[in-house]
Amino acid sequence: MQEMIKKLAALQCNHSFSRAGKIFKTKNAEYFYDAGTGKVFQCENYELKLIKLLLNNEWDEIERLINTNNEYTQACQNICNLIDKEHILQIPIYKKFTNENKNDDAFLNGNLKQMTLEVTQKCNLRCKYCIYNEDYSQFRSFTMEDMDWDTAKAALDYANLYGADDIIIGFYGGEPLLNFKLVKKSIEYCLKNFKNHSELYFTMTSNLTMMNEEMAEYFKNVPNMNVVCSLDGPQSIQDQFRVFSNNVGSFERTINGLKILVEKMGEQAEKRVSIHSVLCPPFDENKLEEMKLFFQNLTWLPKGIGKNIAYVGAGTLKDNKYQADINDPEEKKMEEIDPVKAWAIKELSQQGNDFTYAFQLQHSDLMRMHVRSILNEPAKLLFRNACCTPGIRKMYVAVDGTVSACERIGNSPSLGNIVTGLDLNKIREKYLQEYDEYSLNKCNECWAMHLCNNCYALCYDENGLNQQKKDQECVACRKSIENDLIEYYQLLEDNPVIIQILDSILYGKS
Ligand code: SF4
Ligand code: SF4
Ligand code: SF4
Repeated sequence: MQEMIKKLAALQCNHSFSRAGKIFKTKNAEYFYDAGTGKVFQCENYELKLIKLLLNNEWDEIERLINTNNEYTQACQNICNLIDKEHILQIPIYKKFTNENKNDDAFLNGNLKQMTLEVTQKCNLRCKYCIYNEDYSQFRSFTMEDMDWDTAKAALDYANLYGADDIIIGFYGGEPLLNFKLVKKSIEYCLKNFKNHSELYFTMTSNLTMMNEEMAEYFKNVPNMNVVCSLDGPQSIQDQFRVFSNNVGSFERTINGLKILVEKMGEQAEKRVSIHSVLCPPFDENKLEEMKLFFQNLTWLPKGIGKNIAYVGAGTLKDNKYQADINDPEEKKMEEIDPVKAWAIKELSQQGNDFTYAFQLQHSDLMRMHVRSILNEPAKLLFRNACCTPGIRKMYVAVDGTVSACERIGNSPSLGNIVTGLDLNKIREKYLQEYDEYSLNKCNECWAMHLCNNCYALCYDENGLNQQKKDQECVACRKSIENDLIEYYQLLEDNPVIIQILDSILYGKS
């Protein structure tokens, strides 16, 4: 028995065992996620109790149990067998982060995947939660500025020269259709000049209130053009927050624009149009049910059009009575911290139900769990959480040419200017060194290190890394990963057809 204790203790290598994995619980069972290998094991009583004690570093109690109770002795033996055969509980200490491109200087080489142009800072709406409202300091405010052609051309030339083989050109605002001329000119320029790219995709995020027949005809004829429509749901929901400056709701105009576009795109609409909704409090099942019925009853909207929901950003609503309460999530139930997921699990668990909408909302979370690395030996590399390589996964060029990592990162230190050049020293210092110095030790002690979805956009402000913000995001991130694990394994128990659908999406099986 002492041998077994020694074996377990040797794995700890002066660190807390809490980093080695996580116990999570579905309605019917408890599981252990092993952080090193990514494997998940369903646990029975005695093994479960011992692993819980291990993760809490309660060595005296472990010793007492296995010395006094044969069931625990056997359970400890079973765990030791898993250690030998499955290589669990052996996560190494990582000396450094590895960049997603496996090379810290990848941003020097240029293999840009997506270039997004902020074609205008104007918007015809004044959504009450808009990040560009004047009271929200983390992003710029609305202005009357449009991007000029010289800036757009410089960005497109950069993308042409340093872009990946399959490159995406995005258009963003404000409301990009207010500068439709520049969107069109940019597309024409790319189609004419991007000869060395095997695939050229376009994407635009718009409230669609200005979409007309002529624009829709144009977008239909642009190869690989995708449009994301900002629509929060039925009129009662959309018009509460998505309003024009005179406080009139935008529902009718957005629906009109969406209908024109969808009808024009015809059979291609399902693949080329998607819907992005922002969910504001109160977060309740009735609201999600209402949204589901609304989309189901739009008979002209192809059923398979992609849909997702984002919670309204903390601090973006002017009226505090609508503020989301999603702080301090560690002890909260899934219904409180992620009510969309809690609702979707119920929908997806019921066999025979029409789960299209719930599946669309959860597709990316489920897929992330489905395709996570499951290794025979513990992972040898630790990636820099979900952080992109600045200037490689995406580049966001503001109207004045300022380059950011993406549209979600707000006033964080820029990567440079598209006309005058990128500031490579600043990228190294602010986005690699500063992040790593603060994060590496903490991530080494965190069970979520190989599933983490924290990135710069969540924890940077105008000065760079905001340590307090990052610590808060880490708590939320761990809770959200735990919820993702629960969701995936709950559905494997209740309705495995859902998991098979993920395979059919991945491998094209019917
Ligand atoms: S449409 Fe977008 S940019 Fe315009 S006010 Fe609404 S959220 Fe802001
Ligand atoms: S969301 Fe995060 S990971 Fe994605 S491009 Fe923006 S900063 Fe990078
Ligand atoms: S949640 Fe925080 S501490 Fe944990 S791996 Fe992610 S960034 Fe690191």
